[in-house]
Amino acid sequence: MHIALLSRNRNLYSTQRLIEAAEQRGHTARVVDTLRCYMSITSHHPSIHYKGAEIEPFDAVIPRIGASITFYGCAVLRQFEMMGTYVINDSVAITRSRDKLRSLQLLSRKGLGLPITGFAHSPDDIPDLITMVKGAPLVIKLLEGTQGIGVVLAETNQAAESVVQAFMGMKANIMVQEYIKEARGADIRCFVIGDKVVASMKRQAAEGEFRSNLHRGGTASVIRITPEERSTAIRAAKAMGLRVAGVDLLRSNHGPVIMEVNSSPGLHGIESATGKDIAGMIIEHIEKNATPVRKTPPKPKG
Ligand code: ADP
Ligand code: MG
Repeated sequence: MHIALLSRNRNLYSTQRLIEAAEQRGHTARVVDTLRCYMSITSHHPSIHYKGAEIEPFDAVIPRIGASITFYGCAVLRQFEMMGTYVINDSVAITRSRDKLRSLQLLSRKGLGLPITGFAHSPDDIPDLITMVKGAPLVIKLLEGTQGIGVVLAETNQAAESVVQAFMGMKANIMVQEYIKEARGADIRCFVIGDKVVASMKRQAAEGEFRSNLHRGGTASVIRITPEERSTAIRAAKAMGLRVAGVDLLRSNHGPVIMEVNSSPGLHGIESATGKDIAGMIIEHIEKNATPVRKTPPKPKG
């Protein structure tokens, strides 16, 4: 097969590993710079051009779209979908996953465990919003933050109120969330491919920090997850419509609660922590599910 990796940077660990894994399994793979794709939206021959010429046909696309270019990246990916190309995660699912509030709303519909979360518009509603999530300490987070940036722990109701007011004043979209203290700065990353958790790791926040993100100094180690955690992760990925996902859970007193579902989970941390060939498993999933391209693309679906 001929596989495209939609990525801005060919030197990233995850990009390199996916290329390597594809080649090892006898495929060809090419890094396509998302922001250099441009498209012609026509009914009979939707196409993508790349650096001056029409792009070659691919059998599958692996999107690795950074949070800062979600809008353009998803437009490019959608164009591949219109051309009938198999994409491992589709544009709608990626767009969903980039909005933490929308994601939690979708997960709540499936009855999955979540931290109590509130969202409001008017500053007049802040005191009740804080009560709704059981008061301080509580977590305030930007709907579109990543890598732990934009996640704040407010220790007192007063601090929470001021921070929420400040964010609202800046027109930043935030939600407030019950603080899962008993997780003690640790979360569990479940790497889902298809309908399986293929690897999992525990991330422990650095001393004096509550955010376990590796970018914030967290450390990763292997962990055995419970059957309940496993099924929560699989159901979460499914609810989001993601075939490859990094589902982050916290161990709360009332079972696993979902933090977020990542649509471009990094491979470095999880492969180093577990020693597993996750890139190879992603390629294997494509082999099983993608139908190699036909000369005439099928009628695009809605
Ligand atoms: P990001 O997208 O920036 O990674 P997250 O919502 O995943 O944002 O939060 C980052 C980290 O902060 C989590 O992995 C977790 O360790 C910690 N955290 C976030 N929300 C809570 C919470 N409600 N209770 C306890 N810890 C939290
Ligand atoms: Mg996170």
